Amino acid sequence: MHSPMFSLEVFPPRRTAPVGTIYDTLDGLHGMHPDFISVTYGTGKQSDRTATARIAHTIRTEYGIPAVAHLTARNSDKATIDHELDLFEEAGVRATLALRGDAQLGTDPCGEFAYASDLVRYIRERKPNMAVYAACYPECHPEAPNLDADIANLKIKVDAGANHLISQLFFDNEDYLKFLDKVRDAGITVPIEAGIMPVTNASRVKHMVSMCGSRIPSTVEHMIERWGDDPSAMQEAGIIYASAQISDLVARGVDGIHLYTMNKAVTTRRIWDNVQALFNA
Ligand code: FAD
Repeated sequence: MHSPMFSLEVFPPRRTAPVGTIYDTLDGLHGMHPDFISVTYGTGKQSDRTATARIAHTIRTEYGIPAVAHLTARNSDKATIDHELDLFEEAGVRATLALRGDAQLGTDPCGEFAYASDLVRYIRERKPNMAVYAACYPECHPEAPNLDADIANLKIKVDAGANHLISQLFFDNEDYLKFLDKVRDAGITVPIEAGIMPVTNASRVKHMVSMCGSRIPSTVEHMIERWGDDPSAMQEAGIIYASAQISDLVARGVDGIHLYTMNKAVTTRRIWDNVQALFNA
């Protein structure tokens, strides 16, 4: 059996944050040797679009780790996408994670690409040598009518050229494993990494869940009720929960784990220390 993949996600600091913030995060992750680190892409007012390519370049050249750059299609025209793809190529990224992006109030809802599959197809044409990753949703994307319809749309995205999938965060492994069965039954064969977000901060998790619609199981609800107002206890509980989630998924033969670091190097390293032996066992 192959060893599962292990990858990390970081986000560019806000424009107003000190420049060194991302170095603090990356220094803290040093020595973990993930298969890649992905860098998110923001289109909000606080975001600097060029930061994704710059940070990806830093990860690759200064830390020696392959980098994956996220790219969202919504509110972008082809010229902007072309420019970003050129920057990613110059930065030597391993792959682009092609996303539709979320709707923003008061802006054109679609741009030139209605769905991520349109962006995947476009990148395939423009940069045939670039790998294209995409997102998937174990508990169904919030806008899709049901999971079967969402998986049918996922198949379109994979058929358009996405050769690797990363899942939305989830807290119940049974949801993920049922999803995997359905995806494989639908004829999707590309590698899929399970997205894990540690529950180390109650308000952040509630905010994330309100945006992405993931279900909070009763075990996690109890953790938040008991330790939500005690940051250090919440952090410990979150590290234990994420480590247990990962060890169960690895035992059950998943392709890989993608850890949403939230730029928290200490938490990430503690989880890695708990589970790293399992990745080579
Ligand atoms: P799509 O695959 O286009 O799906 C969106 C919806 O459209 C789904 O309901 C789907 O079922 C439906 N759909 C798709 N194709 C069709 C079709 N042909 N016909 C009808 N319906 C269709 N956001 C950011 O802004 N920046 C990031 O860096 C970022 N990184 C992310 C990383 C991961 C791993 C994940 C899971 C999400 C990330 N997001 C990011 C959030 C993402 O942009 C949102 O979840 C967005 O709402 C959907 O993006 P998508 O690429 O999955 O869209």
